[in-house]
Amino acid sequence: MPDFPFDPSHMLIGGAWRASAETLPLVDPSTALPLAKIARGTAEDIDAAVISAGTALSGDWGRMPAAERGRVLLRLATLVEQHIETLAIIEAHDVGKPLTQARADAKALARYCEFYGGAADKITGETIPYLDGYTVYTLREPHGVTGHIVPWNYPMQIIGRSVGAALAMGNACVLKPAEEACLTALYFGWLAQEAGLPPGALNIVPGLGAEAGAALAGHAGVQHVSFTGSVATGRLIQTAAAQNVVPVTLELGGKSPQLVFDDADIDAALPFLVNAGIQNAGQTCSASSRILVQRGVYDEVKAAMAARYAALSVGPAMDDLNVGPLISARQQEIVTGFLNQGRDLQIAAQAKIPSSDGFFAPPTLFADVPPEHALAQAEIFGPVQVLIPFDNEAQALKIANGTDYGLVASVWSRDGGRQMRLAKALRSGQVFLNNYGAGGGVELPFGGRGLSGHGREKGFEALYGFSALKTVAAYHG
Ligand code: NAD
Repeated sequence: MPDFPFDPSHMLIGGAWRASAETLPLVDPSTALPLAKIARGTAEDIDAAVISAGTALSGDWGRMPAAERGRVLLRLATLVEQHIETLAIIEAHDVGKPLTQARADAKALARYCEFYGGAADKITGETIPYLDGYTVYTLREPHGVTGHIVPWNYPMQIIGRSVGAALAMGNACVLKPAEEACLTALYFGWLAQEAGLPPGALNIVPGLGAEAGAALAGHAGVQHVSFTGSVATGRLIQTAAAQNVVPVTLELGGKSPQLVFDDADIDAALPFLVNAGIQNAGQTCSASSRILVQRGVYDEVKAAMAARYAALSVGPAMDDLNVGPLISARQQEIVTGFLNQGRDLQIAAQAKIPSSDGFFAPPTLFADVPPEHALAQAEIFGPVQVLIPFDNEAQALKIANGTDYGLVASVWSRDGGRQMRLAKALRSGQVFLNNYGAGGGVELPFGGRGLSGHGREKGFEALYGFSALKTVAAYHG
């Protein structure tokens, strides 16, 4: 592990690194060995962070012109770029993410800072034609203090898209990273200080969900809450935020399908079909866990995917193989439970896992899975995909839309009419045609329908979400 230029067991509040009363242990998922200690932030710590954020808003940060906010983020982008290797190694140990994938996350974090740094002074209002004697215009203003509750699967990317956009819009942030993995979040906080972000504009309080997380979601001084994680916790957060009647953005995962038609370019589709399922050991909100295949090419796709599964290498994150461990023993238990529920199903392929104490789960491809089966309905959050055959477009659409989720979908077909019909009819926040973007696309608005959540992150949409619109109507006669 690299040396930290700050104490990673501390919290960042008001520009100062502070010790907490108690700490929590972090574990390296590749070895199950202790990795570091992090702060166990309390409700009082969250309170101090919210107060610091408020102070930043009434001080240097709140008064900073948009172009200058953008420059701070651009400096931060450069610093993140310069620390990609360090961030990637920390993430590999903390999340268990193979080094190449961890590097991609660090690059994405830099890109988010670059994108939102460039966008900071390009958010404008509009003038609206109204009655005679009036001039009407709109202003986009920051909400104020924004709360960011982040999971362990993509800390860097999720912080980039949420904190990056919130800061660009002029909010002051309180970030509660996940108790399972939060070292790159803290490192990002240190880099932000180095980039010249004023004290209190970004506060980071690690801790348990039920303690620091709940305190942040329900804090009366927070004007917007952004959350990525499970549906159950999303409900708690929306309920807590409702007491203060503040908006929330919820990104709650999915059961995202790829639809492969007889006329598809199968060779082009294959890498996407498999990678979108096993990337980050399947612990991706936009993982493609359902592969729907038309009967004419079903056997071919099944055999080709099975061959790729058989060739997958699984091992410790620092070995940089195709698949690393799951985040925790608890996640391993959840995934094993799902694998057991598939006992009655056909296993088309299963990759081997190393015999070690790490939290590994075997990448598994199930075939001929009934669409209503638990494995075709529930978010597994492990390297598990199901193959579902279909006869025609109408049936494919019904199956694709037949879960409670709606985050990402893709269509593999050369038929332009079909592409357009399905792009409209799929109940999904994103639809990819002849490609699939699990987690990518800084510029592309991203978010869910149904249990996948609401609100949009990424792209310019995130800036709108992190701002409040004010209408000014001036009567001048
Ligand atoms: P979680 O939703 O409980 O945790 C995510 C974040 O929420 C963490 O920072 C956690 O500390 C915080 N949190 C937990 N309880 C809270 C509360 N009461 N109030 C405020 N914040 C709280 O997810 P998990 O327990 O780590 O994982 C369980 C399942 O959730 C996974 O198996 C997976 O299916 C799903 N998940 C989805 C995503 C995603 O990207 N959509 C990410 C992580 C987990």
